[in-house]
Amino acid sequence: MRRVSIFGATGSIGQNTIDLIDRNPDAYDVVALTGGANIHKLAEDAKRLRANVAVTAHQDRLEDLRAALAGSDVQAAAGSMALTEAAARPADWVMSAIVGAAGLPPGLEALKQGATLALANKETLVCAGPLVLDTARQHNATLLPVDSEHSAVFQALAGEDMSAVERIIITASGGAFRDWPLGDLANATVEQASNHPNWNMGQRITIDSASMFNKALEVIETKEYFGVSPEQVEVLVHPESIVHALVGFNDGALMAHMGAPDMRHAIGYALHWPARQDLPVERLNLAKLGQLRFSEPDDARYPALKLARHVMQRGGLSGAVFNAAKERALDHFIARRIGFLSMADCVAAVLDRFDAQSSLIDAPLTLDNVLQTDHLARKWVDEAISQRAG
Ligand code: NAD
Ligand code: MG
Repeated sequence: MRRVSIFGATGSIGQNTIDLIDRNPDAYDVVALTGGANIHKLAEDAKRLRANVAVTAHQDRLEDLRAALAGSDVQAAAGSMALTEAAARPADWVMSAIVGAAGLPPGLEALKQGATLALANKETLVCAGPLVLDTARQHNATLLPVDSEHSAVFQALAGEDMSAVERIIITASGGAFRDWPLGDLANATVEQASNHPNWNMGQRITIDSASMFNKALEVIETKEYFGVSPEQVEVLVHPESIVHALVGFNDGALMAHMGAPDMRHAIGYALHWPARQDLPVERLNLAKLGQLRFSEPDDARYPALKLARHVMQRGGLSGAVFNAAKERALDHFIARRIGFLSMADCVAAVLDRFDAQSSLIDAPLTLDNVLQTDHLARKWVDEAISQRAG
């Protein structure tokens, strides 16, 4: 039996992972499941899957979780330390599907015990790519991409030599506002931004898709995971979300990966890798689809992409700054304190401020430095917003 843990089990990726495991429960021994405020769902899944431990990220919900697990053998734990401890429990395969930089410490811990880490949490590589890859190497751990574009690239690269790769193209649907007049974007609401045309995902990544911050994170993730230069990573807008990524080789060949927009594809690939197994995803009928469209992303519509290019050139802690500023600006947008376009303005202002601090730019990429920088960048976003209000 394979020992598996799922971090962020109550979320969109977590539930899709559980869907796959539920179809063949005898093959898996579930070690840890973690969630946030949805105690009911966490406890229900932990009991059904007979997990050893269930962890809520919220310290003050421990008693609620204990009560929900009463009468079962599942242990209850709470708080960020408990999350990291759960990641140290021996497991063969660990799904990293917490949203945000909070996914980094448990992900690193899982790598330290030599587990295979299935990485949906793109923030891990954006904030600390070289540290994460070094940790995996040192502990003989395997890191598998779960983001659909990165899983697609990984599959297109199977058996290939990286030295023959000229470029990697990841696609973007263009999000909720792809066809909106530019002038209307400033007034876009949280509800409108939370409505993705093709994918059914958590609210935060859905809004990040509308602003293209999601793709900006993914461009950095591509550079880090596959070890290519910033210039080798390209983005194409592809409204149908059927081609997830393409790899261009030095003989001019382009290998594209296609599939229905269903995350169980990428999750299942990482779960069964290096084998392929039957997955409950739609089989594409290309004749019925008729056409696939591609276009260049418009810089004016998607300033996040330009910011990502800057971050890749900078390296070091700038990824952690970029991600934290984005997360905090998104908090403010969701709380309706700032408008849709102000998110990119805030992130740009925080990156400028970071660029002026040479001591931070040259600081080594350690977990402590990443966490401190993350904290600082969030504070800078709050300051930028209160200055504007004042
Ligand atoms: P979600 O919001 O649906 O779920 C997030 C999970 O993380 C929940 O279990 C929540 O309880 C937990 N969580 C939230 N904040 C936390 C914190 N501070 N500490 C600990 N746990 C916390 O998110 P999602 O859409 O499933 O996305 C999860 C990750 O996967 C993100 O990094 C996202 O970018 C990435 N991803 C998602 C999709 C998708 O289709 N949903 C696709 C590609 C990549
Ligand atoms: Mg993606």
